[in-house]
Amino acid sequence: MSHLSKPASTATTPLLVVSDLDGTLLDHHSYSWQAAAAALAAIERHNIPLVFNTSKTWAETRILQQRMGVRQPCIVENGAGVMIPADYFSPAPADTQAMDGRQLKVFGTPYADIRAVIADLRREHGFRCVGFGDMSTAEVAGHTGLQAQDAARARQRLFSEPLLWRDSEPRLGDFIDAVRARGLHFTRGGRFIHIMGASDKGRAMLWLAQQYAPPRPRVMALGDGENDIPMLAAADLAVVVRSPTHGPPTWPEDCSPAKDSTAGGRKPLITAEIGPAGWNSAVLAAIEAAL
Ligand SMILES: [Mg+2]
Repeated sequence: MSHLSKPASTATTPLLVVSDLDGTLLDHHSYSWQAAAAALAAIERHNIPLVFNTSKTWAETRILQQRMGVRQPCIVENGAGVMIPADYFSPAPADTQAMDGRQLKVFGTPYADIRAVIADLRREHGFRCVGFGDMSTAEVAGHTGLQAQDAARARQRLFSEPLLWRDSEPRLGDFIDAVRARGLHFTRGGRFIHIMGASDKGRAMLWLAQQYAPPRPRVMALGDGENDIPMLAAADLAVVVRSPTHGPPTWPEDCSPAKDSTAGGRKPLITAEIGPAGWNSAVLAAIEAAL
């Protein structure tokens, strides 16, 4: 599919579509986006920016952008980094640095620091958990269902560590407390728990939305997991995409509107269909309403 949006050099848009990948735009089992083809074509036709907001690494996400023909900013490793095509905003946003021909905005904590904290906690408390940094590429492939090349890209981490929890649930509570005491954050994705710095998908999304020239775009966010809650809570239109493996994430009662959001805190819509099919219906409806 040649789906691609030219970079908005003036960078204005009425609608920004920000989406989680696994289980949301990509089928949980097959990683296919074919069920969303109609909405992806509509996004291309209307030149609406499609921003991937994922726990995946930059190495994984850039390949997916290439495969899908998407040339837009993306948010990687659960909000820890925002990668923007070099010519996308003019001038480049403040506080960004050049990397791989892109502008990178960092919200996260360096990977080596996160690995060191996890190693400390295992040593001090005997927690049983396995991170990507402990696994071979073949093991990551085995746990994720990714092809070897994609698994290798998943191991190229900059700001966050996915862990398989091999201990009890009560011990997980202790682990989370210990992680927080060390100044790091915890979130739960589809298959893994993620340890990272003081970043989340919502904070990075709001920062990106603010880089577009006024009027600020209406932000639609789509996700299926607990780690998507900060992003959904900060969006103008939040959509929970139904999962084949788990119920919709719990919407916190105290989910207060984000400071920079016009409609944050509102309960999300939940799709009737699963995964990319639900994504397709929700995005087509939003485009129809917005344009
Ligand atoms: Mg997901």
